[in-house]
This record gives sequence, C-alpha cells and structure tokens, in this order.
Amino acid sequence: MKIKIIKKNDKNILNLKKADNGVEYFSFDALEKYSELIQGFSTRIGGVSEGPYAYMNLSFSREPDNKEGVLENYKRMAKALGVAENSFVLSYQEHSTNVRLVDKSDMGKGVLYERDYRNIDGLITNERGITLGAFFADCIPLYFYDKEKNVIGLAHSGWRGTSKKMAAIMLEEMSKNFGTDSKDVIACIGPGICQDCYQVSGDVYEEFLKSFGKEDVESFFREDGKEHFRLSLWKANEKVLEDAGVLKENIFTSNICTACNPNLLYSHRIMGEIRGNLAAFLALK
Ligand SMILES: [Zn+2]
Repeated sequence: MKIKIIKKNDKNILNLKKADNGVEYFSFDALEKYSELIQGFSTRIGGVSEGPYAYMNLSFSREPDNKEGVLENYKRMAKALGVAENSFVLSYQEHSTNVRLVDKSDMGKGVLYERDYRNIDGLITNERGITLGAFFADCIPLYFYDKEKNVIGLAHSGWRGTSKKMAAIMLEEMSKNFGTDSKDVIACIGPGICQDCYQVSGDVYEEFLKSFGKEDVESFFREDGKEHFRLSLWKANEKVLEDAGVLKENIFTSNICTACNPNLLYSHRIMGEIRGNLAAFLALK
C-alpha cells in the first residue's frame, strides 16, 4: 500500500528512496550532489519490528521490542544506505548539548557494542567509513556538512536543545576541532514535529527567552489560547544556524512532519511511549 505523504510546502527538500531490500528512507536533495556523503532519515517501512513498533524501530531501548529485531533492522538499514554493518556510532540522547568527537575506535558503539559514553546529543567526525546515527520521534535532526574541510556532524535538537542553541554548539565544536567556517557548511533540518502539531506551555516560551531576544521568540511561537503556544522548532533552528554564520541559501528545512505522518513516521505526540524510534544517519564515504 502506498502511503500518502503530507507535506507542509511544495519544496523539493526530501526524496523518499526505496532500497532493493524494501527499506524506505528519506534523503536530502541538497546533500545528494555530494558524492562523498551517505545520508538518510529512516521511516517505519522495511523493518521487522511488530505491533506498535512496526516496522523499522531503530532503538534498542524501546522495550519490550526485541533486540534481535532491532539488530536486523540495522542490518537492513546498512544495506539500504550502502554502509558497513559495523560502521554505526550512535548518540546517547538526554536532551543535552554535549557533542562527541567520533573516531574509528567508536565504530559499532550503540549497535554491536555498549556505548562507553552517556549524555551525548551531537556527534562530529572527519573520518571516512563511520556512520553517525541519532534517534527521533518528533524532535529535530540536524545534519551538518563542511564541504571544504570534509567534516560531518549530526545532532538531536528537541525544544530543550533548541532553546540552548544546539545547532550553534555543533558549529563551534566543528570549528574548534577541524577549523570549520560556518560559511562552508550545508545544514539540513530534518523531519520532526511541525508548528501546527506542536502545542507547548508557557514555561517553554520562558525558557527560550533566556537565550533568544523577544522578537525572535515571538517569531518561533504562535499564541494558542491561555498560557499555550504552538512552537516551530524548524524556524528556531533556522535562526540559530543563520546567527551562527551559515548562509541562508545553505540551510534546507524539512517540510515533512512526524506527527502529520504517523503511518510513515513515529511520533511521540501521536503514539506516546509505546512506539519505535526513527533514526538519522550521516557518513563520509
Ligand atoms: Zn504536523
């Protein structure tokens, strides 16, 4: 059955790919022209998990979904993307703004081996053959590619991370470790919850006011009754990237919302805790 994808605009941002093994994943149009990159954002389609986890759950911690099934999902994902099964290095997300510099010694961590780190919401590397991975079900994936220095970064940015400007922290870490200049960076803001689907309370608004000017905050939030707002994490991340020096023409924002597309994507707001996790992947060939 073909699932109809609901998009927020007509722009050609994400292409849905179908691999020979049946795995369907999104690919950023803006990154496809860089042949040294492998990138993708998973959908629910093409895995072996069942029930509320159906089908492509990529998180080992969403019990009781069985771990063998998730491992098989990673094998299928590796094949679909064209990366080695032992190349994955996964985040350990706790809504922090901590970034890990990843190297070959990390390969397999999170899939084949236990992670020997905690509290990591961003990963960066300049080494080839490593597949960075992070998890999502409404929060915002951020992809970074420094096309001059050949450095990649992948981050998880929910409202907490976005309010603390995770995107800018990623760029700082890329700059500190590899000399990245934001002007050379292509930044992609991936599928996540859209403004229409994302109601938040006044304390989230207050949290943003701690690190953004009032005018900016008012451009991210739309009032929605007493003490409630609708928040655009896409817009807020665009602003952080622009302020950090990424050129407007190098920022590409998803028009696909997880909550608008629950048959295709997992959404925490729609499904609650009993669900699978999507994953974002980025690698240098
Ligand atoms: Zn939506």
